Amino acid sequence: MSSLAFISFLRGFRHGVSLWCPQSCHQGNELRFSLKHGIEGDWPKVRRSFTISCAANADLSKDYVIVGGGNAAGYAVRAFTEHGVDGSKICIVSKEKVPPYERPALTKAYLFPLDKSPARLPGFHTCVGTGNPRQTDEWYKDKGIQVLYDTAATGVDLDKKKLFTSSGSSIAYDNLIIATGASAARLPKTIGGDLQGVHYIREVADADALIEALQTCKKLVVIGGGYIGMEVAAAATAWKLDTTMVFPEPHIMPRLFTPSIADKYEDLFKKYGVRFTKGVTVKRIISGHDGKVSAVELSDGVVLDADTVVVGIGAKPAVGPFIETGLKMSEGGIEVDGQFRTSSPNVWAIGDVAAFPLKIYNRITRVEHVDHARKSAQHCVESLLKVQQDPYDYLPYFYSRVFEHPGSERKVWWQFYGDNVGDVVEVGDFSPKYAAFWIQSGVLKGVFLESGSPEEFGALPKLARQQPKLDVKKLQSASKVEDALSIALEAAGIV
Ligand SMILES: Cc1cc2nc3c(=O)[nH]c(=O)nc-3n(C[C@H](O)[C@H](O)[C@H](O)COP(=O)(O)OP(=O)(O)OC[C@H]3O[C@@H](n4cnc5c(N)ncnc54)[C@H](O)[C@@H]3O)c2cc1C
Repeated sequence: MSSLAFISFLRGFRHGVSLWCPQSCHQGNELRFSLKHGIEGDWPKVRRSFTISCAANADLSKDYVIVGGGNAAGYAVRAFTEHGVDGSKICIVSKEKVPPYERPALTKAYLFPLDKSPARLPGFHTCVGTGNPRQTDEWYKDKGIQVLYDTAATGVDLDKKKLFTSSGSSIAYDNLIIATGASAARLPKTIGGDLQGVHYIREVADADALIEALQTCKKLVVIGGGYIGMEVAAAATAWKLDTTMVFPEPHIMPRLFTPSIADKYEDLFKKYGVRFTKGVTVKRIISGHDGKVSAVELSDGVVLDADTVVVGIGAKPAVGPFIETGLKMSEGGIEVDGQFRTSSPNVWAIGDVAAFPLKIYNRITRVEHVDHARKSAQHCVESLLKVQQDPYDYLPYFYSRVFEHPGSERKVWWQFYGDNVGDVVEVGDFSPKYAAFWIQSGVLKGVFLESGSPEEFGALPKLARQQPKLDVKKLQSASKVEDALSIALEAAGIV
């Protein structure tokens, strides 16, 4: 059979056939063909492999191409396999060199000093973060799922349903799931943002480079007072480094913490030797004669010596390959509906990159947190497979854990559920517990807890979801976190 005749033969199949991505194929009940250059017409002049899958369930025999190999991608694949849609139908296109992993670990156990049992891959591949099997490269191979590593998506033709990649090939898909996440925001090159010794952390390779630097680091400056800054500074205390945090806001975690919550954490950081320089921006990062970073000059004229700088100033949705496609954008990301469908048929977006309807608060939003990455992936795949048709109903949840290295005097672990709007009632002495309740017009909107028990943490989403009316005076009179939680739970009718 000629190449073209063979392609017509393949196109004749509507069910049970998978037109696959280039690169190696897998074991299992598949036939494998490899066509070399010279295929004309709709088909690119590149080497392609085609896998004919003998899937039992003809209704599910489509191609699913997931762009991005991060948290959402790992959980999306898990959802596919849960519903029996594995085999040759799924392909991940990933810029990274390793299978999807639980990204939050990069600024937590990954940064433990080398003699304190730091986390390393394959230990934290998805989906271990939710107690599920570790999806290593072997796991994907066993399931017949192809992962194209070190391959960036460069563009997509929505009409022809083709994804273009950095390898020069294109991948035909029936359904495309965009899970490209976000990339670290950078300081401009003109002020030294690219100097040797300046680190940004988004991927495991970035964390490896930082660990290399920490081994000889004498003076560390952390720019940014959000999650990344706070977690890196906490890790640096375990390395016993001279560490200064610099940020323009009046306190750490300004988007969530109240000044008094921030005070508690800043005091703890100071106790471990971290210095704070607040209310300033970075004028420039200065290089030494060797071309490496030597200092950071601040907007108030202060110059901080530094041999290593970590920049944690936020992230930008990774929409690059999709900007020219005409896909509807919102909040800097790709707009989706409650099922994670984009404005183009058969194209879906999940995780950090997706701007979705936050049903509970009736607004379009993007959420850059792992819980949403996991849940959006599950919901999207189930929508795609028509397992469910409910709109996504996400309850915002943020958490962080620091000072967890072996030998740490005190572990810090907080969770927040809901919306941080309204007035705040704070309860507790931070030794170790602390709670905060955001109340708007007498209604509980958001709840924060440090060092709760599993049961107490478990009560937070119920409270935030239920939004009970609270007796604010009664709550204010609570002297202990346990009492305040009981008051809220009683108001919600939860015993
Ligand atoms: C260091 C760090 C610590 C964090 N800590 C926490 C935390 O404590 N709690 C919390 O809730 N959240 C945390 N987050 C956020 C959380 O990790 C993200 O919300 C989550 O990873 C989002 O999943 P995602 O799949 O959408 O994006 P990602 O996990 O970022 O995955 C995106 C993937 O797409 C790939 N990609 C991008 N562009 C392309 C392209 N063109 N072609 C192919 N591949 C591409 C990327 O390389 C990456 O592999 C942290 C994030 C970081 C970086």
